Amino acid sequence: MTSQSEKVNENEIGEIDTLNAICRQAKAEGKLSGKNLTELYDLFGQRFTKALEVLKENRVKKYTFRPSNRVVWIVVGRERDYLIMAEAEFCTCDDFYFRVLDKKIHICYHLLAQKIARNLGWYAPVEENDELHESLMDEWKKATT
Ligand SMILES: [Zn+2]
Repeated sequence: MTSQSEKVNENEIGEIDTLNAICRQAKAEGKLSGKNLTELYDLFGQRFTKALEVLKENRVKKYTFRPSNRVVWIVVGRERDYLIMAEAEFCTCDDFYFRVLDKKIHICYHLLAQKIARNLGWYAPVEENDELHESLMDEWKKATT
């Protein structure tokens, strides 16, 4: 029992470590190599296909609020926007809520897309005034409750 749960944890750490290593490499080279693409697909399968779609359609947005310089990452979805807490590796989507918290998958495709976007600069920068921070955050969080 114990050894099995340890094994699951090892696999999860492997997934995120490999992703971070690929991101670092991609950042240094300024692109995802063919090898990176294969590795990511092997690791994440459909989640990576969906993340690539997000990246191709430029649906990752980095909001910077002025003058506080608070940063909020958003992935624009088909029906709603998803709020990404990059540092906490948290996303407001159902996939994250039901599966990541249940330890069935480590990260959702929004987080996957955001990580790649941040490392390669494949996002749309948006600047907003601090006055709008609260109302926008309410809007983004609303969908989850
Ligand atoms: Zn998500």
